[in-house]
Amino acid sequence: MPSQGSRSGFFWHTGRRKGCTVAGLLALGLGSFACASTLWDVEALPIDRAERQALAGLDGQRLGDSTPYVFATLGDAVFFLCRWPSSEKIPLVLPGVSDPALAEAIEAAVDSVEKMLPIEFDRREHLGEGGIEIRRLEPGEPGVSGVANTVANCRLDPKVGDEGPRVDARLVDASIWLRVRAFDVAGRISTHSPAEVAGSLFHELGHALGFQGHVRLGRSVMVRSVDHVRRIGRRLLEGKTVDAPSLKALYAVPSGTVVARRQVGDEATRWFDAMSALVLRKRLRGPMIRVGDHVARVNWMDANGGSYPVFLHDVAAVMEGSRGFELDPARRTRALVARAGEPPDLN
Ligand SMILES: [Zn+2]
Repeated sequence: MPSQGSRSGFFWHTGRRKGCTVAGLLALGLGSFACASTLWDVEALPIDRAERQALAGLDGQRLGDSTPYVFATLGDAVFFLCRWPSSEKIPLVLPGVSDPALAEAIEAAVDSVEKMLPIEFDRREHLGEGGIEIRRLEPGEPGVSGVANTVANCRLDPKVGDEGPRVDARLVDASIWLRVRAFDVAGRISTHSPAEVAGSLFHELGHALGFQGHVRLGRSVMVRSVDHVRRIGRRLLEGKTVDAPSLKALYAVPSGTVVARRQVGDEATRWFDAMSALVLRKRLRGPMIRVGDHVARVNWMDANGGSYPVFLHDVAAVMEGSRGFELDPARRTRALVARAGEPPDLN
């Protein structure tokens, strides 16, 4: 349960318009309600003048609609942006596709993203340590309901208690599952059109590059609309430029830039603190953080590849203060903490 002090410790400011809160959007159903202001205020980011000018030059960017990454220690929560460093090439593995039209669609999406952002891919046959892998799912293979899905892991050096403008965080690996063929309603195998594949992959690359959640308004590549994504795919295949100002905005500010800090009380962060205390004792790696539209998954791994995740639901609502900071550890995470007796009163 969140501590009594969590509301009073809330010191996140936004220029959000009245009646356009996260709670209001949830009540009305996200996506069916067009709201001019964003989830959080990009103007309030702790960035320097050059970065601010770069953001100001990006017409229509809605970086403020992205779900930030989150961590907390000893009662202090921090919400931050996470992306790949521009200084290193990003290893990238493409899926094997025999159909030349689909292979062309995949290349069109990858090339377009690479040209638009200050990043460079290092195309490889296999990933070594870290990078982005685009995997192909066969019809009937579980894992993705639509055309594609993505997870992107952010590695954090968890010294978040200070008041600096950035935390030490960067993306280290991402996986995109792409379905180029699926069963149709009659149970026959149908192949997604090259435009669907190109548009979907462009969108998923946005997630793999650190933009989590979706843009709620306008014609961004990061909207949830399948029709819009297909239109973007057609443009890509026609060789036209596709702009994605919200992705550019993410790459105009440093990785780890703090979106908000909140004091949530020592009680609220106990599961994170317990796992942090076990990092040395149990030789764990982490935290590695994933976020989606709503849920954050903060994970630690042991030497055998075992995962010990702790979840935080409704990240945006928690950041806004309309929902308490309530951590939800997986069963095996509870068991590890219980076995280690760290701290003894948690269970
Ligand atoms: Zn998406």
